[in-house]
Amino acid sequence: MSAPRLEVDLTKVEANARWLVERLARHAIAVTGVTKAALGAPAVGAAFVRAGVTGLGDSRVQNLARLREGGTRLPLTLIRSPMLSEVGAVVREAARSMHSEGAVLDALSAAASPERTPHGVILMVELGDLREGVPAEAVDALAVHVEALPGLHLAGLGTNLACQSGIAPDQSKMDQLSEIVRAVERAIGRPLDVVSGGGSAALGWALTTTDVGRVNELRLGESILLGTDPLHRTPIEGLHTDACRLVAEVIEVQSKPAQPWGTQGHSTFGTPAARPGRGTRRQALVALGHQDVDPAGVTPPPGLAVLGASSDHLVLDADASDVAVGDCIELGLDYGALVRAMTSPFVTKVLRGTTPQSASIH
Ligand SMILES: *Cc1c(COP(=O)(O)O)cnc(C)c1O
Repeated sequence: MSAPRLEVDLTKVEANARWLVERLARHAIAVTGVTKAALGAPAVGAAFVRAGVTGLGDSRVQNLARLREGGTRLPLTLIRSPMLSEVGAVVREAARSMHSEGAVLDALSAAASPERTPHGVILMVELGDLREGVPAEAVDALAVHVEALPGLHLAGLGTNLACQSGIAPDQSKMDQLSEIVRAVERAIGRPLDVVSGGGSAALGWALTTTDVGRVNELRLGESILLGTDPLHRTPIEGLHTDACRLVAEVIEVQSKPAQPWGTQGHSTFGTPAARPGRGTRRQALVALGHQDVDPAGVTPPPGLAVLGASSDHLVLDADASDVAVGDCIELGLDYGALVRAMTSPFVTKVLRGTTPQSASIH
């Protein structure tokens, strides 16, 4: 089998999604499964659907198109505010989209067909993480504006925290969101259907709170695929953390001086990190680099430790390992590493736990 390869175990992905769907159902929160880290692969979307998600979301219109062509019947949500230049594709491919700009909504309305079911709009509210979102005090006016736009239906509000500045989705932020929902409902004179409280970073709050307020949906990607909580970078108990693994091949194992020698300048990827130890140590080279993965986000097996990486080489301390040339090693991945591996043309994607005909990401 070719290396490097990214192996995704769909049985574990489905189990993770089912665990989250069931726990959140106790809080009356539905799950939109986010497929962007899997490039909208229909087989991954299908695993989410079997687990009971109520919709699928992705940040890229191309990925939504793949899901749709793959036969997904659940509503699809574009979770990144559309480019003005893609509103036509958005109304074709997505049932709903998330927004923060009046000009984009105007264009979306113009592109929406009057004959079709109105396109659902979720307005994103800025609550302090400083990525996408309308300031809280401007949401009412934009909601009233959307209500008057033909071809669109204001489905609800959403927010996104943690992704840009690491601001925690805590009780106070979620209470603020519910408060803004009530204000918008007073302004438009009707209830809103959807309150989308965030991504996997909101799970710590959602699974423990005694008051979800108006939040009735989360958009989950990382927690389903990796079993981790992005806010604390910790495993979520009950979830598989090895559903996605990167397999790569060792191309050199040599005993070398622990420390480099000669006059030192910068290396290709900045100042080299200090190496541990003295004397002679075993070093392993793996055919894997920045072109394949984010080397800072990989976890090698026990006995091996990452010393550094360049475009095409991962350098490992192998003093406590009997790894040999030609061996394949399995690396754990964080979200950044998963996304890089998934988008690298050099990494073969292998789906396990599915029928052969759907076993491809590309
Ligand atoms: C990526 C993304 C998500 C999913 O986040 P995870 O941390 O992968 O669960 C949710 N909402 C928006 C707007 C996103 O961009």
